[in-house]
Amino acid sequence: MTTDVIVVGAGPAGAATAIFLAEHGLAVRLVDRARFPRPKICGEYLSPEAPRLLDRLGALKAVDAVATPLSGMRITAPDGTQLVGRYHAIGPWRPYREHAMALSREVLDTILVDRVRALPVELSEEVRVTDVRVAGDRVLGVEAVDADGRRLTLRAPLTIAADGRASVVAQRLGLRRPHRLRRMALVTYVEDVPDLGLFGEIFVDPPDYAILNPIAPGRANLSIVVPLAHAAPWSGRLESFFDARAKHLPHLARRIAGGRRVAPVRAMGPLAYRVDPPRTGGVLMVGDATGFYDPFSGEGIFNGLRSAELAAETAVRALRRGDLSAAALAGYDRARRLASRDKERVTHALQFLIAHRALANLTARLLARHQGLLDLLLGILGDFVPPRALVTGVRAR
Ligand SMILES: Cc1cc2nc3c(=O)[nH]c(=O)nc-3n(C[C@H](O)[C@H](O)[C@H](O)COP(=O)(O)OP(=O)(O)OC[C@H]3O[C@@H](n4cnc5c(N)ncnc54)[C@H](O)[C@@H]3O)c2cc1C
Repeated sequence: MTTDVIVVGAGPAGAATAIFLAEHGLAVRLVDRARFPRPKICGEYLSPEAPRLLDRLGALKAVDAVATPLSGMRITAPDGTQLVGRYHAIGPWRPYREHAMALSREVLDTILVDRVRALPVELSEEVRVTDVRVAGDRVLGVEAVDADGRRLTLRAPLTIAADGRASVVAQRLGLRRPHRLRRMALVTYVEDVPDLGLFGEIFVDPPDYAILNPIAPGRANLSIVVPLAHAAPWSGRLESFFDARAKHLPHLARRIAGGRRVAPVRAMGPLAYRVDPPRTGGVLMVGDATGFYDPFSGEGIFNGLRSAELAAETAVRALRRGDLSAAALAGYDRARRLASRDKERVTHALQFLIAHRALANLTARLLARHQGLLDLLLGILGDFVPPRALVTGVRAR
């Protein structure tokens, strides 16, 4: 059987793309360099709108069985002001579920890959893509190496890059660019922290912030995001750096006192990078392969699933018409940017606020007096309230 689409990477974006395409009857080859379950550095939070896409993918029941529901977020400002926002219907906007979710990425990603396995998709694990085959203005497929070191050439009219932040496809096509936001995340797990449960917890303390996310009973993901320049001298001693930094954030330190770190610290940085849209035909990019900004607003997985949905629509149309030129595929990138543009503006504004102590305190005190505004903001960050509601108010549609 000939392959219609090669999908590179079986993380949430790639697995979702493969599922959507297979459901349209297309012949899909999905390859990943890892074998699942595989670890993934992440804050492990899923926004309340992510279940809509997980439901479409046939994965929600399995996710529901293992995820911790989070009814909202508790945010602590540098001066200790606490904000508690909850996910609920706001005016005409209703979340798919009135809670966000926390669950281990090993589990989530394996659920999605298992869903792929239930479909007629040719899934190859431990196959690492090493290069992209390009002829003229067209991507024709990829070069790869399997677990036994054998070289493979995979060909298809359409290649979809879902290979994440280290995307070989983006690099080989010369699309990746650095970002001026230079931050690093340090991620681990803690246990025995009292009263973990209903809320995701954020501690803002410029230039750092930390997120405590209860992924299982008695166990939380703890991520601290710091300027890259502060962490760089500590490479090789990141555990000491993490422990010192956690003590240095007073509200976090008080919150996790009595708890203990139960896993090694894993680091990732620089977090932010940009990726230009492809100029060649025969290729689309989804998820982190399209770029990444910052994990503060926790929408990476949702964006990955949403981009898969949009890419599959474009791919199906283009393959049916037999036109996979860059021009025929460009609509996808426009749709993806349009879908995320307004929220990007909100997250950029938030980044500015949380980077400045006085501003962060002022904003927290303002939001503490306006619960409706706080919940609206949480709805925007939770992906179910359109960002324009900040300007138009809640009655507008
Ligand atoms: C510190 C941190 C915290 C975060 N916290 C959150 C959060 O709480 N909530 C949230 O929604 N998002 C969060 N994100 C973002 C989220 O992790 C990503 O947006 C999400 O994983 C993107 O999914 P993806 O499928 O595009 O990429 P990935 O999940 O990275 O999957 C890419 C896949 O491609 C495979 N691959 C890579 N290269 C190759 C190759 N050459 N050949 C074959 N296969 C390859 C990899 O093995 C991997 O399986 C966080 C990110 C960071 C860095």
